[in-house]
Amino acid sequence: MSAILIAEDEDRIAAFVAKGLRAAGFAVQRAASGDEALERALSGDFDLMVLDVGLPGIDGFEVLARLRGSGSSLPVVMLTARTSGADTVAGLEGGANDYVPKPFRFDELLARIRLRMAERPAEGAAELTHAGMTLDVRTRRVRVAGVDVDLSAREFALAEEFFRHPGQVLSREQLLSRVWGYDFDPGSNVVDVYVRYLRGKLGHERIETVRGMGYRLA
Ligand code: CA
Repeated sequence: MSAILIAEDEDRIAAFVAKGLRAAGFAVQRAASGDEALERALSGDFDLMVLDVGLPGIDGFEVLARLRGSGSSLPVVMLTARTSGADTVAGLEGGANDYVPKPFRFDELLARIRLRMAERPAEGAAELTHAGMTLDVRTRRVRVAGVDVDLSAREFALAEEFFRHPGQVLSREQLLSRVWGYDFDPGSNVVDVYVRYLRGKLGHERIETVRGMGYRLA
């Protein structure tokens, strides 16, 4: 059974989320302060943490910074204020895997959690291969026909999304959500720009444009 840590000091919200997650088949524990959240997150007993920004003691951003600073790759879904885009950006740049703005519907949070859990590489499955390309999710290295290719963090995240869904068409909206954490169109062509970068590094023919639908790893 997968274990989730809920770091949220508002009892009403923490209890509501815990109850829903237990009903969905997860083992759940709660932490009501930043220090407690960090200590428990570092214990290695959990598969994912739901982390509120507003916590007594050290806040959610600081918990995240210290967690990542300790080398932990525990998936973290942050709860942010819906009105603060700055929180979202800070959370994602600080190493959150995803965020859910408050107030949220439980099914929205559950969908996020399931998505992030599904992405965790299984033991021994750290290498994803496709058509002569290898992507190592632990060392963050990519090889094309035996040659190392340097990717930026964002390019790697985008490549990983394609490698996890070979042959499947991924829409701009899916890529924005999974790679950038956006649930809205920021009104830029950031996906197209990064696909172009990736093509430049992996080979133009590796990523196909599917007109009107999105992109696909060839
Ligand atoms: Ca709180």
